[in-house]
Amino acid sequence: MALEKKTGWPGSGLAKGLAVTLRTMTKRSVTAQYPDVQPDLAPRTRGVIGLFEENCTVCMLCARECPDWCIYIDSHKETVPPAAPGGRERSRNVLDRFAIDFALCMYCGICIEVCPFDALFWSPEFEYAETDIRDLTHERDKLREWMWTVPEPPALDPAAEEPKEIAAARKTADKFAAQQQAEAEQAEAQEQDRGQVQAQDRPDTSEEGT
Ligand code: SF4
Ligand code: SF4
Repeated sequence: MALEKKTGWPGSGLAKGLAVTLRTMTKRSVTAQYPDVQPDLAPRTRGVIGLFEENCTVCMLCARECPDWCIYIDSHKETVPPAAPGGRERSRNVLDRFAIDFALCMYCGICIEVCPFDALFWSPEFEYAETDIRDLTHERDKLREWMWTVPEPPALDPAAEEPKEIAAARKTADKFAAQQQAEAEQAEAQEQDRGQVQAQDRPDTSEEGT
C-alpha cells in the first residue's frame, strides 16, 4: 500500500518529467554567450590585482603576508637631499620590480587588505588566460595597465564621517591658505608704509614755485 502511494498512478513520472521539460522550454535561456557577449560582472569582482606604483613605498608588507609567496619585489635605496638647508639627507626605497604570479595566487585579497598605502586594488579584468603557466607571472607594467580598469569606489554615505585622510588634508590646505593670506596682507601693509614714507620724504615743490 505504501509503495503504491510513493509511485502514484502509472505514467505519472513521465507526465511530471514532461511538465518540467515544458516549463524549462518556456523559460528565458541563462546560457552565458561569452565571448560574443561580455558578462555582467559584480562591481567587486576579484578578477586581477592592479598596482598603483606611485603609492608603493616598497614596505614589503604585501609580499610578507601573501600566504602563497607569489609577490616578487626588488628595490634599491636612493639618497634624497635634505628638504631644508642644514637638514639631514634621507634614504628612500626605489621600486625595481613588482610582479605577481597568478598561477599561484589564490585571490584571497590579503595583499590588498594589508597594503598601508593603497597601492593594490582589485580589477574585474579576467581575460588573461595563458597557454603556458609561466606566462602568468605579470610584471609591474602589466599590473599598472590593470590599474586603469579598477572601478571607482562607491560614493560615501552622505551621513558618513569624513575620512581621516581627507580631514587631515583639508586641515593642512586651510592652514596653508591662511598662511598665504597673512603673508599677502603683510606684504600689502609694508607696501603702503613704504608709499607713505616716500610721500613724506618728497620735497614740497609748491612753496618753491611761489
Ligand atoms: S590575493 Fe592572496 S594569494 Fe594572491 S597575491 Fe594577494 S595575498 Fe597573495
Ligand atoms: S604593501 Fe603596498 S606599499 Fe607595501 S610593498 Fe606592497 S604594494 Fe607596496
